[in-house]
Amino acid sequence: MTAEKAQVILAFDLDGPTGDAMVNGGIWERPGYFALGAYGPHRAVPRILDILRGHGVSATFFTPAWVVRTWPDLCRRVLEEGHKMAGYGDIHEMFHGRTVEDQRGILQRSQDTFQQILGQRALGFRAPSGDLAPETPALLVETGYTYSSSMRSGDRPYLRTDVPLHEIPAKSLFDDDSAFAYHRYPNFPSGLDRVAPYSPVFETWLGEIDAAAEESLTVSTIWHPKVMGTPRSGGPHGRVHW
Ligand SMILES: [Zn+2]
Repeated sequence: MTAEKAQVILAFDLDGPTGDAMVNGGIWERPGYFALGAYGPHRAVPRILDILRGHGVSATFFTPAWVVRTWPDLCRRVLEEGHKMAGYGDIHEMFHGRTVEDQRGILQRSQDTFQQILGQRALGFRAPSGDLAPETPALLVETGYTYSSSMRSGDRPYLRTDVPLHEIPAKSLFDDDSAFAYHRYPNFPSGLDRVAPYSPVFETWLGEIDAAAEESLTVSTIWHPKVMGTPRSGGPHGRVHW
């Protein structure tokens, strides 16, 4: 076992209730949809922070600016406990298909919120749905970001050749939405709350991390507090230790 050679980046996408339904305004007529998303910052993140503190592990929270404005104390607590807050748009906008001005506005608005409420700008950025537009990398550099974790393919961080921006690819296999959550129309944000047990998925993930360690690779998760932050079920072998 050479697990110590894998780099595992614990990355949470703290969507809250942001997403397509907020972008098109429909969420304000759908309290159930709102409540589903709000479970993340309202209930799950404090639980996750306690677990991380218990293990002495730090994580990165990719967080839309709207969530920072709505739960400022929680987001400050994330920082105070030694974790990183990173950019994730304003209300989880997809960047693909947007004008340059639109994209720039979202990134600047997001950085302004981080500065005003958290006292610091974000260095990292994850594109909601992993959909960078061709212009986005240069706009990220222009607005103060130094790395992106938006791509899915790849198992090592790399420096882009066009602009000075590091990319840390994430893994779809480590997307808790696809592993745990069920789907229904409309399916965006694609995951709903968790319906599958943790144990088999954790075993799969641990095996994948062992495999990554064999080649000294990097694994970055795509975990959503509203999905991954419910109390942990034990499964047939009791509590899973990881
Ligand atoms: Zn998301």
